Amino acid sequence: MSTAFYSHAECRLHDMGPGHPECPQRLDAISDHLLATGLDIALDYRDAPLATLEQIERAHSAGYVMQLKDLLEQVQAEGRPRALDPDTVACAGTWRATLRAAGAAVAATDDVIAGRASNAFCAVRPPGHHATRDETMGFCFFNNVAVAARHALDVRGLERVAIIDFDVHHGNGTEDIIAGDDRVLMCSFFQHPLYPYSGAVPKGTNMINVPIAPYTRGPELRETLEAMWMPRLEEFRPQMIFISAGFDAHREDDLGQLGLVEADYEWITRRLKDVADRHAGGRIVSCLEGGYHLGALARSVAAHLRVLAEV
Ligand SMILES: [Zn+2]
Repeated sequence: MSTAFYSHAECRLHDMGPGHPECPQRLDAISDHLLATGLDIALDYRDAPLATLEQIERAHSAGYVMQLKDLLEQVQAEGRPRALDPDTVACAGTWRATLRAAGAAVAATDDVIAGRASNAFCAVRPPGHHATRDETMGFCFFNNVAVAARHALDVRGLERVAIIDFDVHHGNGTEDIIAGDDRVLMCSFFQHPLYPYSGAVPKGTNMINVPIAPYTRGPELRETLEAMWMPRLEEFRPQMIFISAGFDAHREDDLGQLGLVEADYEWITRRLKDVADRHAGGRIVSCLEGGYHLGALARSVAAHLRVLAEV
């Protein structure tokens, strides 16, 4: 059994303009590094399908999905970029990229549940964890991980899944969608204070939010997660684990001020894999969120994948 690696060339056609940190080169940096290190041969490369609107509507309101579809198709037809909020820009390639990103997460979920892969990583953009039920936000359009988690629950019949978010920013969109859905336990840490300045007060009892002070480093963070996440995860016994895998808590990443290094991503992945192996038959689907220093991003994704693929 293998680790599936989902991506698609159309995820590179979403381009928010010169100088924007959430750029197509992020995916190139990851794939180049996997080739250069030979890690690519340990992965099973698969093309992301397009998500259906029905799949997306498990996490977003039908009104929002229809409105965004109309808008992004209009931008696609006109070929002129349009800013949707101060951070989030739509261009001609955005609509197809959003469908590929959510489609990857759903297909990876199906593969892992059906036993066609041990676990999966989705190297996709745009990211998703700031997208709320009804709004684009912070580089995000559709919430890929929330769509996949709801697919596992509503379509594949799982009863308990965990969502882990280790991006440096609080996954406010996922919290907005998932808070109060007791079939899901969401564990996150995030630098606080930092954009989007939420999360210090959790919105539901199924949210384990761990705010972290700027300049915190790996050893201290590991102790905190061991105390705050692990007992709740063990008690919850998730049947599958979804990861919002942002790598912008890396100390070389300028969008946050945390001090993680590759070894910390390896440690987090190992601890999650232990939980998945004990309770979930090893089932993990991990989706790329942030990570903006191209070198640190590529090395951190590789550290994450080495644990998932056991190489
Ligand atoms: Zn982030």
